[in-house]
Amino acid sequence: MEAQMIHMPGYDQIASFHDSETGLKAYIAVHSTALGPSMGGVRMRPYATEGEALKDVLQLSRAMTYKAAAAGLQIGGGKSVIVGDPARDKSPELWKAFGACLESFGGRYIAGEDMGTTPEDMDEIAKVTRHVMGKSTASGGLGDPAPYTARGVMAGIRVALKWRYGDDSLEGVRVAVQGVGSVGMNVAHALHEEGAQLMVGDPCEERVAEAVEKFSAEAVTPEDIHKVKCELFVPCAMGGTLNKQSIQELRCAVVAGSANNQLSSLAAGEALDKRGILYAPDYVINAGGVIAIAMPVVGLTPDERDAKIEGISDRLTQVFTRAEQAGIRPEEAADQLSEDILNAAEAKRIHSSGSKKEKRVRAHSGFST
Ligand code: NAD
Repeated sequence: MEAQMIHMPGYDQIASFHDSETGLKAYIAVHSTALGPSMGGVRMRPYATEGEALKDVLQLSRAMTYKAAAAGLQIGGGKSVIVGDPARDKSPELWKAFGACLESFGGRYIAGEDMGTTPEDMDEIAKVTRHVMGKSTASGGLGDPAPYTARGVMAGIRVALKWRYGDDSLEGVRVAVQGVGSVGMNVAHALHEEGAQLMVGDPCEERVAEAVEKFSAEAVTPEDIHKVKCELFVPCAMGGTLNKQSIQELRCAVVAGSANNQLSSLAAGEALDKRGILYAPDYVINAGGVIAIAMPVVGLTPDERDAKIEGISDRLTQVFTRAEQAGIRPEEAADQLSEDILNAAEAKRIHSSGSKKEKRVRAHSGFST
């Protein structure tokens, strides 16, 4: 196994790994441990270039730091990416080799599942390291975190509707759901139960058919789902779907969904704001899954976990309030709130390491306190 450290300002630790025997090519990034050990999923994708994989791991690990801080979790942000095709390139040997990479971080990074990986893959990794969460239920793990993510998204949707319309009722509200996968289907189910009128778009025909049958949803092509007239647009597919062009095509008043990194750029946030569309920042509203996965690491009881997921409402209200008071956009307010938490933790860490040093000096010089 070849391992190489990569130095990047603002990141605690980054390494690349290459194992010719198993074909493993991976990057692991620890963005911050200011609040606790870093956590973040293992993403497996056939990245076109290694540069693309590195860019993804850097962005995703940083987003995890902000997400954990916003969720009030005592964990930091990390992420891993594996360059490979999830349908073809997985093997027990590959997971064993990847587990050894995780071990080299000595617990500063705890992995979990993400796009392209499953709870069963985490079971394989857990055979060689304990620094992994999100195992299958058969192995005593949490299994699929999507239902928890969906619960948090629903809490955020109610806040966003209330903020925009002064009423959080979903009865008769027109909602367009982009992507009815693990999270999107759970969200669609909850929206239907609360009386929303659903439209769904997904390239997977079976999933669309399921939503049509179970929730009386209207099927819309994936290309057009963001263009339909509705009160609420719920992005639950891939990231970056809110770009210059798609934002001009939106006909909604609120965007609130689970997808990570929804805004393709800073300008996308500005464009949404210019159009008067209220945006619920992705990492605030989609934190339900990481709260559930972090439960054993931070020692939450099931009741505390549930309260934290419901607490997404309060955090989003704080974000909207700060944005309104400071005349900034919600995603800027969310970043500021997370940075306040991170800076306070960093200051405490520096202060306590300073006082430990001071204590050592005093002990050495015979002073007593
Ligand atoms: P998933 O793979 O189960 O579902 C994604 C769905 O999007 C699939 O059904 C796919 O066919 C569909 N899709 C793909 N391209 C599309 C397009 N152009 N238009 C419409 N639909 C399209 O993934 P998931 O676990 O449900 O996650 C959805 C999003 O939420 C991702 O961005 C993920 O990173 C994010 N997220 C998920 C969780 C979680 O707990 N699973 C937690 C936080 C964030």
